[in-house]
Amino acid sequence: MSTKWVYGFDEVEALDKYVLGGKGANLAEMTRVGLPVPPGFTMPTAACHAYGNEGKMTDDMKDAVAQAMSRVEAATGREFGGNPPLLVSVRSGAPISMPGMMDTVLNLGLNDTTVKALAEETGDERFAYDCHRRFIQMFGDVVLGIHSMRFEQILEDVKADASVKTDQELSAKDLERVIFQYKVLVQRETGHEFPEDPFTQLYMAIGAVFSSWDNPRAKVYRKVHEIPDDLGTAVNVQTMVFGNLGNDSGTGVAFTRNPSTGSRGVFGEYLINAQGEDVVAGIRTPQPIAHLEQEMPQVYEQFIALCNTLEQHYKDVQDIEFTIQQGRLFLLQTRNAKRTAEAAVKIAVQLVEEGVIDRQTAVLRVDPDQLDQLLHPRIDPGAQVQVVGTGLPASPGAASGHVAFTADDAADRRQNGERVVLVRTETTPEDIHGILAAEGILTSRGGMTSHAAVVARGMGKPCVCGCDALYIDGAQKVARIGGIELREGDTVSIDGATGRVIVGDVPLVEPELSEELNLLLEWADEFRELGVRANADNPEDSARSRGFGAEGVGLCRTEHMFMASDRVPVVQAMILADTIDAQREALDQLLPMQQGDFYGILLAMDGLPVTIRLLDPPLHEFLPNLEKLIAKQVTLQEHQSLHPDDQEIARELAETTYMLRRVRDLHEQNPMLGHRGCRLGITHPEVYEMQVRAIFQATAQLMQEGHHPVPEIMIPLVGHVEELRRLRVMIEKVRLAVESETGTVLSCPVGTMIEVPRAALTAHEIAVEAEFFSFGTNDLTQTTFGYSRDDAEGKFLHQYVEGGVLQHNPFQVLDVDGVGQLVALGTERGRRTRPNLKVGICGEHGGEKRSIKFCHDTGLNYVSCSPFRVPLARLAAAHAAL
Ligand code: ADP
Ligand code: MG
Ligand code: MG
Repeated sequence: MSTKWVYGFDEVEALDKYVLGGKGANLAEMTRVGLPVPPGFTMPTAACHAYGNEGKMTDDMKDAVAQAMSRVEAATGREFGGNPPLLVSVRSGAPISMPGMMDTVLNLGLNDTTVKALAEETGDERFAYDCHRRFIQMFGDVVLGIHSMRFEQILEDVKADASVKTDQELSAKDLERVIFQYKVLVQRETGHEFPEDPFTQLYMAIGAVFSSWDNPRAKVYRKVHEIPDDLGTAVNVQTMVFGNLGNDSGTGVAFTRNPSTGSRGVFGEYLINAQGEDVVAGIRTPQPIAHLEQEMPQVYEQFIALCNTLEQHYKDVQDIEFTIQQGRLFLLQTRNAKRTAEAAVKIAVQLVEEGVIDRQTAVLRVDPDQLDQLLHPRIDPGAQVQVVGTGLPASPGAASGHVAFTADDAADRRQNGERVVLVRTETTPEDIHGILAAEGILTSRGGMTSHAAVVARGMGKPCVCGCDALYIDGAQKVARIGGIELREGDTVSIDGATGRVIVGDVPLVEPELSEELNLLLEWADEFRELGVRANADNPEDSARSRGFGAEGVGLCRTEHMFMASDRVPVVQAMILADTIDAQREALDQLLPMQQGDFYGILLAMDGLPVTIRLLDPPLHEFLPNLEKLIAKQVTLQEHQSLHPDDQEIARELAETTYMLRRVRDLHEQNPMLGHRGCRLGITHPEVYEMQVRAIFQATAQLMQEGHHPVPEIMIPLVGHVEELRRLRVMIEKVRLAVESETGTVLSCPVGTMIEVPRAALTAHEIAVEAEFFSFGTNDLTQTTFGYSRDDAEGKFLHQYVEGGVLQHNPFQVLDVDGVGQLVALGTERGRRTRPNLKVGICGEHGGEKRSIKFCHDTGLNYVSCSPFRVPLARLAAAHAAL
């Protein structure tokens, strides 16, 4: 079977972008609609694969290209290599747009003969030589691999010789000199003469574009954007039109709406008498599109009309490349515009209002991941800040912290409870633990796809990279930027949304939902079936997440309340107590505090369910660090030997020694699999009893005040139904006691987390006692993979993901094939016992779109995620349902 190697733009049969690439598909579509597109043809992605396998263009392909060229000759009345000469561009075009990643050659078909024909035809020698020198330069760079700088240097030298500043001022004679020297350079670099035969040029250029699919830039881009490597690129060969043919010619790029703010109105820029990349190259300053209205009113009017036609046709904002040749407008490219999250939301809503798309389409237009950009705290726009430099905005959000120059320093400072910004020239996989420890990352080198940028985005941490103004002296641990010296421990702030680097702390403002985003999310709510709750441990987070649309709290971690600085001494006293009375006393102190916590959260969520998880981590997490205690003991012992009579030292030493003994008692080799969760609740029932009492007392109090608290008690880490049964007996006892003490009728469902495989496997038994399930997929992932999350991420997981052993970090994206099976099976078995068992998920995955899709497909009732991800989860749940 012979493959079809060539599709004319005017052959309407196939418009699939996986065959023709995005650019080719749109060129064909615009041609079909009758828009002014210069004639040409596309070689499909299959040709790229064939080229890769053969290592060259086959005769088959060459024949097809030659035939297609004669069709273009016929359509244009020009001749490739003849008179008037047909010139073409050879353009890459991948199925998923990868702007600027691959290469294009313009003015192909020029040689010493055709350049004369072109000069004659146009009556403009200068123009013809300008095209020729551009062609040799682009071909030399893209096809022959000679760095563009080498050509630029020659051009600069000739300009200096001619005493002119701009390319436009060079005469035809000057340009002939440039061309001559270019050819000498090519001969010297490649050992061959510059190819004069147009078809040789064409086949070589096509081959180079196919090969550019695998250039390192393109590969990295694909990795970052999760574009499959096996798609391949198409090649477009298109008749040249000339924006450099005098002052009634020009070239430009435009968006049909503002891609950064989303405001209505065509947005873009153009250059008169210019070609191709001149607009973006920054050599001359382009004019805003609005200016075209004065310069060429008719062209402007036509252009605006074309923009509207394109938007109506594609039903989305377009990113357009155009060229004006002697007052005639041509479209060279259109595609759905990339846009900021803010613009995406605004435009989706506008298009619904304008009747272009329906609500469902609008909801699907915004990628839930994109919302993340809008939901980070930002630097207060009104704040006075000292900006000392700007780098690339590599990962959104703002971060402040103390400067650390090494990953180890960052990790150490973090251990001491400091907030850290890791400042490096660049990062490598060895720095992962430092990146994990840091609030944000700042590098002086590397682009948007550098290691730091990629990893930071993956972890959702702010990152500014490639900040040229930053000079780091790693040996001295000092950095200089904008005339300021930064030493280790100094405070610095970064703004990952703008790339700003700021000295000192900055005031942050909470993200807010814009009017448009609220509207879009309301539409999403109409489509979604999954409930969305928040993980919140305090009244502020509860209120915030309610404002973001959360329908309750899916996970309230009570240990976070124990960690508050005023609580720690009481919690320690409780843990260290050596008599029942001493313990009682500490618990009595904690009870009103916990009751206050629950009161606040239940009030903030009044009328909505709040799932409160009883204490989960091992007790030693509340005690001082073992190594530090040992160090303290050693120091005190030394002091004591010097001052044997000092009572104060003796007392402190005794205290430390006791503490150390208790910490050693509680120490575990493997705390993640240790004495924690319901295991504590069963062996030390006092703590759970106190917590349950606090929940019921807060509930009774709120009810008496006329509120509608809806608490749910959740038991962590259950692996056997008997654990749950026993704890339920305890809970029931406390409930009855508080009922009779307060005279209030109390009811509260009791459920469990499913976070060890045995719980999922025996879900039908556990559901006898559990009124609801919540999959704790963080722990379930740990216990299913047998990975300790905190260790794995820094040690091998990163490498696993980079190296492709795992496709995703399973702590970020739910492992559907493994952990997901347990979720599905647990849900199904649980519901066998209790058909309307309410099932949710409360791990990190509850705020991740692919995992949310899985939860929807598996029939869960709700997902619960951190407050800032609630909007994202609402949108993702709608996407899952549509
Ligand atoms: P990229 O994918 O990097 O945008 P393109 O293939 O779109 O590369 O080419 C870059 C630019 O070259 C276009 O924006 C346009 O200005 C110019 N160009 C490409 N083909 C032609 C053509 N046939 N006539 C005139 N200019 C062209
Ligand atoms: Mg382009
Ligand atoms: Mg857990």
